[in-house]
Amino acid sequence: MNFVLNEVLDAPGHYKKLGYDDLTPDFVDEINGAVASFAEEKVAPLYSSGDAEGCKYNSDSSVSTPKGYKEAYQEWSMGGWSGLAVPEEYGGQGMPLSLGVIKSEIIGTANWSWSMYPGLSMGAINTLLLHASEEQKQTYLTKLVTGEWSGTMCLTEPACGTDLGQVSTRAVDNGDGSFSITGTKVYISGGEHDMADNIVHIVLARLPGAPEGTKGISLFLVPKHLPNEEGELTGEESADNRNVTCVGIEDKMGIKSSSTCVMGFENSKGWLIGEPNDGLNQMFTFMNTARLGTAMQGVCHMERSYQGALPWCMDRASMRALSGKKYPDDVADKIIVHPDVRKNLLTIKAFTECGRAMIYDAALKADGMLNEDEAVREKCEEELGLHTPTMKAWLTELGIECSSLGMQVYGGAGFIKDYGMEQIMRDARISTLYEGTTGVQALDLLGRKIILDKGKELGKQAKLQIQEAFEIGTSSTAGNHNLRGHALEVAKLSTQWVTTSMRVVAGAASDREIVGSASTDFLMFSGYISGAYQWLKMMNAAGAALDANPDMDPADRSFYEAKLHTGRFYFDRLLPKAYALRDMSIKKPDSIMKMPIEGWDLATTLPSNSGNAYAGYKAE
Ligand SMILES: Cc1cc2nc3c(=O)[nH]c(=O)nc-3n(C[C@H](O)[C@H](O)[C@H](O)COP(=O)(O)OP(=O)(O)OC[C@H]3O[C@@H](n4cnc5c(N)ncnc54)[C@H](O)[C@@H]3O)c2cc1C
Repeated sequence: MNFVLNEVLDAPGHYKKLGYDDLTPDFVDEINGAVASFAEEKVAPLYSSGDAEGCKYNSDSSVSTPKGYKEAYQEWSMGGWSGLAVPEEYGGQGMPLSLGVIKSEIIGTANWSWSMYPGLSMGAINTLLLHASEEQKQTYLTKLVTGEWSGTMCLTEPACGTDLGQVSTRAVDNGDGSFSITGTKVYISGGEHDMADNIVHIVLARLPGAPEGTKGISLFLVPKHLPNEEGELTGEESADNRNVTCVGIEDKMGIKSSSTCVMGFENSKGWLIGEPNDGLNQMFTFMNTARLGTAMQGVCHMERSYQGALPWCMDRASMRALSGKKYPDDVADKIIVHPDVRKNLLTIKAFTECGRAMIYDAALKADGMLNEDEAVREKCEEELGLHTPTMKAWLTELGIECSSLGMQVYGGAGFIKDYGMEQIMRDARISTLYEGTTGVQALDLLGRKIILDKGKELGKQAKLQIQEAFEIGTSSTAGNHNLRGHALEVAKLSTQWVTTSMRVVAGAASDREIVGSASTDFLMFSGYISGAYQWLKMMNAAGAALDANPDMDPADRSFYEAKLHTGRFYFDRLLPKAYALRDMSIKKPDSIMKMPIEGWDLATTLPSNSGNAYAGYKAE
């Protein structure tokens, strides 16, 4: 983490420019070290017990989290960690947003499900910071920052998740500044739990007469318990006087200790945030940073898989190396000698490390998101906009792939709960679904971020990558460490990134389905290129460190050399997939779209009264 921050991205210089003179590498390391101690001591030990116990829905509509969760959350709040990257005027510590992102990596790797509770509060905090009135901020934001109250984001309804234009929850003006909210929200993370005194729901709903679709959605703040005029709880909170009720919780494949709730709003009292009908815009102001958080989930699962897999590969013995015994005194060689096992491990390591670099790079860009100047915020959104769908979708898909590889090196033990690897895979699976599915991220990248933008940001980013590749490729470090070919490949792929997008757009002029059929392959193509760009920078930094200090400590030398090895593996064994993805993204959509609807057996053969979702489906 320090290597990426200090030697690859020059975070110290960046923080200095922002006016954080005290954020030296040592101080940042101290902060991250304190988060790491908390994560190791308080949160990581609850990872598998929380999964085994799960959340419990009680007869009074309350939800109990697993043993130890509440205590860890209270300690977290007392430590002031929720407010690390929140302005001091609302009780935070005023640190840059990027430090909040790194904090979330540390606790998310230790226990993703637990980290979702403070993570969701962070989403609510950021939304209120930018859009709430001063009164709302004083009453709700300050309590979220201390962690006394937690937050949720209530978007999804039974009929819609991706297509929020279908939101049907209603809000009626009470005439006294408040509104009555009625509707059902589903799959709400942290919608009900026993860790905080109150829960602040940020809810999408529709005012009477609002335009149809996404243009008619407004944003409301709806607390579980209504505070008194002083903004405090009355002390008489009970199951009978809740303003919002949890109707049930979901039984899920993974992230079992994160409560996923069905929330019933029935004339629940709430307050409008910002302007009417501007809800989706407001909710999505922080979409890029929220997606950074979910992209981080991919890295967290990859890192955890690596930490689980490595000791096993060093310890488990099976057969002999193809080139002869490597552990002659043992009955068999350790499995780390086998090329296939090494390839699995290196794949996890290479994706984790470039994923981390991608996210930190973006997080430093995101530091402008809380700037008071709207122009700075807008520029920040634009810069981040191109990267976030790729990071979110590519890294979460890789989180699943790598958690599967982490299981694989365990052999049968990987499938057995006692070893802890299968839980990572179950927990990782949700990450490509929520916060916008992979397919929807891909449409966002190709449709909004490239076609609507007329390729401007893409062109800028490609140019920057080519320039950096040129600088690195022509340096003495590149000569000393064999980086020229890699620099050339980054420059070549960056050019192809632009030309491939142009070919897709040109094709779309005659067949609009091309955008949809190309988008996921194009996004993955973009991911592999971004990974290569980060690896080139990391290899260059490692090479430069080795050149600068030929007498360095052997442990440091081995660290930098391992960076160069891992980078070479990425270029040699992982990056070639980019070319297949490029070719797939410029194919015509015919083989996908030409199948007549009658050809899909289930759709046409199920009886219409089967109760299946296909019932009533009619071929065009
Ligand atoms: C554990 C969990 C926690 C969650 N937490 C929250 C939360 O805290 N708050 C909240 O509001 N929601 C939450 N969600 C909901 C989640 O964000 C949605 O499930 C997700 O956005 C997908 O929506 P959907 O389920 O309605 O799927 P749909 O929108 O019905 O999509 C079904 C499939 O169709 C594809 N699809 C849909 N439209 C298109 C299109 N135009 N082009 C191409 N493909 C398309 C999708 O990619 C997907 O594969 C959570 C869900 C889960 C399971």
